[in-house]
Amino acid sequence: MTTFTYDGLPGRIVFGAGATRTRLPGELDLLDAQRILLIATDTEGDLATTLCAPFADRVAATFSQVRPHVPVEVAELARKAATEADADLVLSVGGGSTTGTAKAVALTTGLPVVAVPTTYAGSEVTPVWGMTDRGRKTTGTDRRVLPTTVVYDPDLTATLPAELAVASALNAVAHCVEAFWAPRHSPVSSAVAEDGIRHLVAGLHAIDASATDSAARSDLLLGAYLAGSAFAVAGSGLHHKICHVLGGAFDLPHAQTHAIVLPYVLAYNAPNAREATDRIARALGRTDIVTAVRELGTGLGVPGGLGNLGMSEADIDTVVDDITAIAPADNPTPVTDDGVRALLRAAWAGSDPGETAR
Ligand code: NAD
Repeated sequence: MTTFTYDGLPGRIVFGAGATRTRLPGELDLLDAQRILLIATDTEGDLATTLCAPFADRVAATFSQVRPHVPVEVAELARKAATEADADLVLSVGGGSTTGTAKAVALTTGLPVVAVPTTYAGSEVTPVWGMTDRGRKTTGTDRRVLPTTVVYDPDLTATLPAELAVASALNAVAHCVEAFWAPRHSPVSSAVAEDGIRHLVAGLHAIDASATDSAARSDLLLGAYLAGSAFAVAGSGLHHKICHVLGGAFDLPHAQTHAIVLPYVLAYNAPNAREATDRIARALGRTDIVTAVRELGTGLGVPGGLGNLGMSEADIDTVVDDITAIAPADNPTPVTDDGVRALLRAAWAGSDPGETAR
């Protein structure tokens, strides 16, 4: 018998090629934004200036000192910028780090956020915030940080370097895979996750052409939205806990860490996660799901193992306890020190994920 609780999240989603040109100004009008704090890194600076041109007179200040994993000092500077500008809305244009900075402002000011994502991170549809203080990453959930409106424009991802696009898309695949067994999974999150994988895989198969192929970009960004939505309601499972600990402890790049670790967690859980396995296989169109997921990044610039990201083999033992301490109790395969150690050793070396299966 099926039993579940589904806590739906609010949010207005506007999706379409060119939507930042055709729809963003109207969305800001709907929210009566008069004094906008624009958050965008220098890399996305020109793009942000171009798309803000129609309402430049309402951009009260721009904050560009975004850093990965939102250091608390950066959050404070962004909040100060919002206060000094007397901002009534935060507009973020960029990847997960930029969205995360906007969320940090919303967390203490309560200002509404309009998010324009330029990667496949998915943070824009979650109520989760994250901040880093002296190398330790803290996350929390607060509905104040959930963007009021998200404008998805696949045209903006055309400039993503191919290797980053692949890693970011695999980060989104991880959101979908994990949504099948995360603590608050439900038939709703599973349906969204399955369709998310389908779109992401279609986009990944055409990734070589995604700079010029608008259908591929659309598939990837739609898949990323579905992935973020599934993750937002289902929560974090073993995979996210592992990546969270590794990212915080060794300052590893977010998307690449997810892309490397995913096949190993999938191999670890698959033997005890029948429904997830069947649905992932259906979405992938293949029954050898661990190999299939690993092959999504093969030859497309995803580093082979965590060792290639600069983590040392001796580091593995230093994080095993931290991971088992926060791993969900109802993970499909029981999470043991030995199990996590073996998983990390394989992921570090980039060896066959099948060896992780137990
Ligand atoms: P990122 O935002 O750090 O961006 C990575 C790089 O890509 C940056 O150098 C950026 O300037 C560049 N970039 C972004 N868009 C581009 C584009 N269209 N063209 C060219 N370059 C572009 O990385 P990310 O992977 O998007 O986000 C990672 C962060 O998001 C992590 O801190 C992670 O914890 C967080 N995150 C949070 C949640 C949540 O729910 N709170 C969910 C997912 C990710």
